[in-house]
Amino acid sequence: MVSRVIPVDPFDLIIFGGTGDLARRKILPALFRRYCAGQMPFEARIIGAARSEHDAEEYRAFASDAIREFAVGTYSADALSEFLSRLDYVTIDAMGDLGWEELAGKLTEARVRAFYFSVGPGLFGELAERIHAYGMASKETRIVVEKPFGHDLTTAQALNATLAAHFPESQVYRIDHYLGKETVQNLMAVRFGNMLFEPLWNAQYVDHIQITVAETVGVGGRGEYYDKSGAMRDMMQNHLMQLLCLIAMEPPAQFEPDAVRDEKLKVIRALDAVQPHHIVRGQYDAVPGDDGHPSYREAVDNPRSRTESYVALKTHISNWRWAGTPFYLRTGKRLKARSSVINVMFKNTPHSIFGEDAGQHANVLSIRLQPNEGITLQVTIKEPGPGGMRLIDVPLDMTFSEALGPEDADFPDAYERLIMDVIRGNQTLFMRGDEVEAAWAWTDPIIAGWEARNDVPKPYESGSVGPRDADLLIERDKRSWRGITP
Ligand code: NAP
Repeated sequence: MVSRVIPVDPFDLIIFGGTGDLARRKILPALFRRYCAGQMPFEARIIGAARSEHDAEEYRAFASDAIREFAVGTYSADALSEFLSRLDYVTIDAMGDLGWEELAGKLTEARVRAFYFSVGPGLFGELAERIHAYGMASKETRIVVEKPFGHDLTTAQALNATLAAHFPESQVYRIDHYLGKETVQNLMAVRFGNMLFEPLWNAQYVDHIQITVAETVGVGGRGEYYDKSGAMRDMMQNHLMQLLCLIAMEPPAQFEPDAVRDEKLKVIRALDAVQPHHIVRGQYDAVPGDDGHPSYREAVDNPRSRTESYVALKTHISNWRWAGTPFYLRTGKRLKARSSVINVMFKNTPHSIFGEDAGQHANVLSIRLQPNEGITLQVTIKEPGPGGMRLIDVPLDMTFSEALGPEDADFPDAYERLIMDVIRGNQTLFMRGDEVEAAWAWTDPIIAGWEARNDVPKPYESGSVGPRDADLLIERDKRSWRGITP
């Protein structure tokens, strides 16, 4: 089974912030991989644009280094030089007139123009305005913006208004790279492509759902940014919220951008406010005697920081499908293992015909998003042997790389898929403005509550599963977290 690659139409992609970290680590390597896969046509052009002065040759050298460092997989030197020949560069100032006429002169008429705003959000308005002023906006123009999309509801509304003043929503692509992951899309395939699960996908059969996004890394070099943000803003408001939407939404009538995004929005709007005793914040400690693993406060160079590197919460979705089913969400840094997984915990059978000795058994559907992508269904069987009717739980495991073979399991990186979707004009995997605002409207009161109560995050050991209070949060409901395993 070899997956089909359908080339996109020739396009011009302009990367504002073309010399930045995101362009180097993600955007340029992703484009190169799509070029090697035969999806990006030779006629396509990529124009880096930033303030630093470079000519096209210097920019190609920059891109070549980036690709050598960050593009995974094998490729030929010929492919690399062909790809680099598609690159150009313009020295431009988003805040002034420098470079704009030159950029306008380089664009090809009558093809898709994607402007990737890989710069701080303070420049979005300036860029959007100048794209119009220099006559570069057309029906085939697309604007790509990165997270963070606002810091709270007010700033997100202001950003949306800025973009809306220049471009209709149908031309704005807000990237949450989580949505570009193969396995995240598989959530929809598993739910809506199999008759088996959907009839059971409701409060009558599901006891509760756990969503875990655990990282082993600390804040690294992002300390200054992260300390103003925290796990709630950096992960929960966007990535975990998106996973919650996909796992809980009603089946859209069609797999089309607005049909899917309408259903996701309904989930966010049906979320209950989180009670203060249903949320736990944490901050990781140093690894004793290991200078390479400082505490959170040391890493962000703020000894009094009250920003959380971990958050766990319980919430409910107030609608017919999910009334009464708790959703437990947790995410954190410096945890025991890197693991993103959704566990759908089914209820016990209504009556055990095997008597008390057989114990309590329930099915669990685990959807592993990373690493080791796949699905495991925990089923109950008879323990083999002559010792009577004892039951055990065994995993029915499907690891995608084993099921599909190594070639088909070589999934494109999220950025590869998302950039190609921008060119194709498919917004399904991009957040709509109202979705982002609804997510902030749910998040803001939680953060405001912490601030009003002067809440201090609980310390937790690096390499652990998080603060003890997070265990108590779920244990109070006579449930427990599934282990965090790679
Ligand atoms: P960065 O490394 O600081 O790069 C910023 C880029 O913007 C540079 O190329 C810089 O070029 C350019 N720039 C700054 N002011 C400019 C101006 N007035 N006119 C034209 N260009 C200007 O930032 P980054 O990490 O690449 O992040 C870019 C955006 O993506 C940010 O919004 C960030 O939050 C978001 N993001 C980044 C990552 C990541 O992994 N890096 C992940 C998710 C989201 P010069 O220095 O040459 O001016």
